[in-house]
Amino acid sequence: MKKRIGPDGILFFDRTSGNNILINECSLPQSEWSLAPRQVSIALTNVCDLQCEFCYAPKNKASLDFQSLTKWIKEFDQFGSLGVGFGGGEPTLYPKFSDICEFTANETDLAVTFTTHGHRLTDTLLADLKGNVHFIRISIDGVGATYERFRGRKFSKLLERIERTRQITSLGFNVVVNDSTIQDLDQVAEVAKMFDISEVLLLPQQATKNVKGLSRDSYEKLKYWIESYRGETRLTISDIGLESNFICNPLSMETGLNAYAHIDALGFIKGSSYSNIGQQIGDKSILEALQLLKECK
Ligand code: SF4
Repeated sequence: MKKRIGPDGILFFDRTSGNNILINECSLPQSEWSLAPRQVSIALTNVCDLQCEFCYAPKNKASLDFQSLTKWIKEFDQFGSLGVGFGGGEPTLYPKFSDICEFTANETDLAVTFTTHGHRLTDTLLADLKGNVHFIRISIDGVGATYERFRGRKFSKLLERIERTRQITSLGFNVVVNDSTIQDLDQVAEVAKMFDISEVLLLPQQATKNVKGLSRDSYEKLKYWIESYRGETRLTISDIGLESNFICNPLSMETGLNAYAHIDALGFIKGSSYSNIGQQIGDKSILEALQLLKECK
């Protein structure tokens, strides 16, 4: 298990099972806390072959340099991060996608996860990823016609890919909740149960230049749905756009850049993928870039 020290105590994390053990009876001085964020997301590329209207990924074609990535990932591991989540754009379109997963799994103790629309998870790619990925998040915003309207791909094809993918690792579903997809939440939960999905992550739609954020009416419906949910699949919820009393957070004292950081496809480190405040990493170490970002926040 990997050990991390922070304001909440000592945390042990097993990347294979996803289990966490927090020892919060002891309080260690700040000089001993891990220096890197607990979790890091990295947009490998902005390129995507879908055109979802709620997409907030930048539309330039930037992609990260492989050598820089390996250096940054090593530093995150060395300074106490627990996991890295690859995203985009569509991360499977990154030319050396399976290589970066393999590198991270074999050269570090970080958990390797990624978020994908799922349609490029061919049997060949899955064979390359097997053993080098600990968790995959697949986007599924509704079922049938609702899904096809937003993603422009056949729902039946998505189910085929889910079935194949769950044979190599644990899966989660990412669900963008908006005025149209909210009516499908029960059915998404049924699909999750059918495929033995570990976790459903609810993402209230954020405003972009193309769409509005989640409406007040849908927000209330979502609250009600969460409160009434009795399904077996674990629910998690993005805290952006939701009241904090929805969230059960055992690591409440580890916040901001100590808890999470995002690197965009241009090589800027930020507090989140939505933030427009960033620090270009360039030749700096990750810790230097993080410090500069903290100073300009
Ligand atoms: S699949 Fe993801 S990255 Fe691609 S357009 Fe849709 S939301 Fe954006």
